[in-house]
Amino acid sequence: MQETPRITLNKLSKKYTGSPVYALKNVSLNIQPGEVYGFLGPNGAGKSTAIRILLNFLQPTEGGATVCNLDVVDDSIEVKRNIGYLSGDLSLYLKMTGEQYLKYMGELQPATSKAYIDELIKRFKAEPKKKLGQLSRGNRQKFGIIQAFMHQPKVLILDEPTSGLDPLMQDEFYKLIQEAKNKGSSVFISSHIMSEVQRICDRVGIIRDGKLISELSIAEMEGKASHTFDITFKDKVPKKELSFLKGCKILSISQNDVSLVMQGRLSSLFAILANNEVIKINLGSADLDNEFLQFYKNKDK
Ligand code: ADP
Repeated sequence: MQETPRITLNKLSKKYTGSPVYALKNVSLNIQPGEVYGFLGPNGAGKSTAIRILLNFLQPTEGGATVCNLDVVDDSIEVKRNIGYLSGDLSLYLKMTGEQYLKYMGELQPATSKAYIDELIKRFKAEPKKKLGQLSRGNRQKFGIIQAFMHQPKVLILDEPTSGLDPLMQDEFYKLIQEAKNKGSSVFISSHIMSEVQRICDRVGIIRDGKLISELSIAEMEGKASHTFDITFKDKVPKKELSFLKGCKILSISQNDVSLVMQGRLSSLFAILANNEVIKINLGSADLDNEFLQFYKNKDK
């Protein structure tokens, strides 16, 4: 049986007062429990508008949206209790210390566990006694992340969550996403960092000029993307066999070493490797940057 989606957008449209064009036009999508959904698109595409509608900061012009089967306008208070939201802009709270900010946010949200908040503070090496205004952008961002996750919500809505974080803290954040996913939470995330999207998302929706132009699973994209391999054979490179490989482009070749790019299915390459003794292989991960960039660039796609 299909589970009830955690987030739905139903033919959602938004036209700002006085604006001649739609910021969002007829956008429909569903996000399942335990799914991490990346919302991607160039600046001005409509991502923040959709997020603001989910939080009832803005109201739809046409269509609607639900979170946990509740209408985002009619049931907005109950909706907010189910959401952990990171806006990426903590400028309202700069005079508060991190501790005061978490206490304040905790009062607006359902019960939180002090032990879990302490764990998050420790994991992110956050500095709760300092005023947010005295912290660097990355150190401030940690408090935004902690408040979004601290009540272990069913739905997380995260607007460019890792901006400013150093690589170790980014890693900690990715672990947190995985833990939330394992507990069945759904995550709606906007990001421009392709490697991040590839690492944490199950599916992406690409939005441009207010329209959802494509939805893809990351596994599907990885299946289509190109992979780079550096291979050292014990004997001579099996040049002839490789030349028959569909989707294979040889970048460089010497007596025993070859560097090649494979597009699509890899099983035919592995069949050749199984027949020829291999000493060393460096397997590059799928490079999705190009796949994503096509959606950013190509107006007609
Ligand atoms: P994104 O988050 O993808 O960068 P936005 O949702 O902020 O895009 O913007 C979508 C479109 O709506 C843009 O054309 C933007 O100029 C317009 N827009 C955003 N906010 C307002 C507003 N308050 N009033 C009028 N137009 C707006």
